[in-house]
Amino acid sequence: MKATIVTVGDEILIGQIVDTNSGIIAKSLDKIGISVYEMRSITDDKNHILKTLSSLQNKVDIVIITGGLGPTKDDITKKTLCEYFEDELVSDSKVLDHVTQLIEHYFKRPITQLNKDQALVPSKCEVLFNQLGTAPGMWMQKENTVFISLPGVPYEMKYLMKNEVIPKLIAKFERPFIIHKTLLTYGVGESLLAERIENWEDNLPEMIKLAYLPSPGRVRLRLTARGKEEELLQNELKIQIEKLQPLISDCLVGFEEDETIEVVLGRLLTEKTLTIATAESCTGGKIASKITSVSGSSNYFKGSVVSYATEAKIDVLGVSQDLINQHSVVSAAVVEEMALKAQEIFKTDFAIATTGNAGPNKGDADAEIGTVFIAIATPKGVFSEEFNFGQPREKVIDRTVNKGLEIIYKEILKNY
Ligand code: ATP
Repeated sequence: MKATIVTVGDEILIGQIVDTNSGIIAKSLDKIGISVYEMRSITDDKNHILKTLSSLQNKVDIVIITGGLGPTKDDITKKTLCEYFEDELVSDSKVLDHVTQLIEHYFKRPITQLNKDQALVPSKCEVLFNQLGTAPGMWMQKENTVFISLPGVPYEMKYLMKNEVIPKLIAKFERPFIIHKTLLTYGVGESLLAERIENWEDNLPEMIKLAYLPSPGRVRLRLTARGKEEELLQNELKIQIEKLQPLISDCLVGFEEDETIEVVLGRLLTEKTLTIATAESCTGGKIASKITSVSGSSNYFKGSVVSYATEAKIDVLGVSQDLINQHSVVSAAVVEEMALKAQEIFKTDFAIATTGNAGPNKGDADAEIGTVFIAIATPKGVFSEEFNFGQPREKVIDRTVNKGLEIIYKEILKNY
């Protein structure tokens, strides 16, 4: 079972918007065992669309197209699909009622011809009713290929994928089972990790594939099992994970797709009814932002001081000028004091503090670019670690964020 995703729009090709639709569609197809063979981004041009459609005809089972459906694009995708299928546009009464209601309710004006045109669909298509917008989705089949056209607006596309496309694909196609299990590791680099688990990887059964997904400070290990018998796949995955776990126990933080360290940390803090705050310099609030991206974080996260300038460390946090003069702003002594002050201000069990030189220029300190200090204030005291995360700036910041979350997570897991 093969699918191709086609995004239509000049905005994507000039870099004005990033194509996030393809990733979302691919993920939901993958979940039901449909492999994406290719993703294409093409212009709003009729001939380009026609050429693309005919090149995919009978080459893949499913083509999902997004974009070019609204009146702003002159409905280019719809008109071109109609031409490709040698069809004519007819008005769909259910869509017309819906468009009329939307316009009258939200815009409080009568419907225009342009709006009415939204209800036009090729006569041979099955309409995918778009509850959230005016442009309907369309499902058409030519020989061995199903062509599905969806609006470009991401939330409308997502709605239609979930409520219309996926159920129809499940009903129509017999698919293999694909099960992913992702293990989240922090603190050990990709190559070291690969060396450690080489033997285990070499002995994986044919039905299971391993992928390394590295990003600054963390590596996700994704196991993908593919086959016809779901139970067999689940069992085999379980056996392999049980073998893998002891090999990476020091850096394994959690499981499951999209389980990030902030989610795992949040769960741990909730379980143990502990609270946390941050005092951030080089991370500029990014640790707080990650922690608060998790719903329910108000139960354990109390606040943050983004003390970026030296004066803010002194005036807002209350770090002493003498300490800074003696050690410099990028030092273990200062970061530890920052953590202790945040813990005191927010009355929390723990606090994370960061200070460093993310580059490319040196700030208020002479420390080498890439140098970062991370401190953790705990109910028993405070400790810090020094790192050099190199360059560029974004990498230094991201690695500091991930490292800070990793250190506190491990500390709580081990000692509280
Ligand atoms: P409209 O009614 O606005 O014309 P449409 O279905 O024709 O909707 P487009 O005009 O192609 O879709 O895109 C509408 C908006 O949706 C774009 O301006 C962009 O913000 C977003 N969008 C379109 N395609 C994508 C994509 N592939 N990834 C992410 N966002 C997209």
